[in-house]
Amino acid sequence: MLDVKDISFRFTEKPVLDTVSFQAQPGQVVSVIGESGSGKSTLLRAIYGLYDLDRGEIYWKDKKILGPAHNLVPGEPYMKYLAQDFDLMPYVSVRENIGKFLSNFYREEKSERIDELLEMVELEEYADTRPGNLSGGQQQRVALARAVAQQPEILLLDEPFSHIDSFRTHKLRRDLFAFIRKKNITCIIATHDSVDALSHADKTLVMKDGKIIREDDPEQLYQKPGNKYIASLFGEVNEIQANLLFPAENYPDDKKVLVYTHELHTTETSALRVRVKESYFEGSRYLIRALHRGTPLLFEHPSFIAPEETVYLKAEKKIVKERIKN
Ligand code: ADP
Ligand code: MG
Repeated sequence: MLDVKDISFRFTEKPVLDTVSFQAQPGQVVSVIGESGSGKSTLLRAIYGLYDLDRGEIYWKDKKILGPAHNLVPGEPYMKYLAQDFDLMPYVSVRENIGKFLSNFYREEKSERIDELLEMVELEEYADTRPGNLSGGQQQRVALARAVAQQPEILLLDEPFSHIDSFRTHKLRRDLFAFIRKKNITCIIATHDSVDALSHADKTLVMKDGKIIREDDPEQLYQKPGNKYIASLFGEVNEIQANLLFPAENYPDDKKVLVYTHELHTTETSALRVRVKESYFEGSRYLIRALHRGTPLLFEHPSFIAPEETVYLKAEKKIVKERIKN
């Protein structure tokens, strides 16, 4: 088990990691989300042993992970870290980059493993190309393949899909996480992408100002975010007076509820009367910006709505009502 125990760390005066604790079981995938600057990258680098902590300890199984003061060459052989900026060897081929850490002793196995990984990141045709001649997204795929090549026990991924074209990331993600699951690799992934955070993680940590403010399973986190900061990490969200959505319930006036844009629908009539300001085409639907008594509100709608039109909105009852309880 990976055991992060009460760690704190600062570059200058302000702590970047503030008494952070969590555990990951072998084979678990843990996603770390939070606004930019909240400390996600620093947390991964601390786990990799790149910092001497001010406080706390990190263990993998019974081994303590040591910082540079006690470990001349940072990083442990059982752990791989894919940095936000991937450092590839520019003058040797993609194939050699992926195989960098693999032993030459079993040549055939090595070659097979590289082929398998080239297929996973869809770079078969670039096997003999130098990374210097690849796009940023292609380089990131090489770095990803190299990170998993040795089947580390722990894999630390920092925004691993940030440079990769979105049409490619879905399949790549599925294949990568299938590989990680099959090999029982413990994976900590820092991400600002809600698909990574929700679809492939066993649990999600939410960071803010160097602290873990929530640890939960992805579905709970999405359905009951608890505050606007957390909900906003998953997309646009509205904060609406509860009794505008459910007048019969007599909620106190100051009771508000977070409602995602796809949870609002137009209806014949309701207490939530809004004036449409703009309709943005988003492919499968429109995102509508409207005003309710001067307060902006966003919702999704299957078709265009003309500016200045008045519509009434209702919310998906069960899920949103459940959310009001907390
Ligand atoms: P995230 O990955 O969540 O965007 P980071 O872990 O990169 O956040 O950064 C957390 C905070 O630490 C930020 O305020 C950032 O400016 C600061 N920071 C990161 N690296 C350094 C550094 N090498 N020196 C000083 N401050 C740093
Ligand atoms: Mg970062």
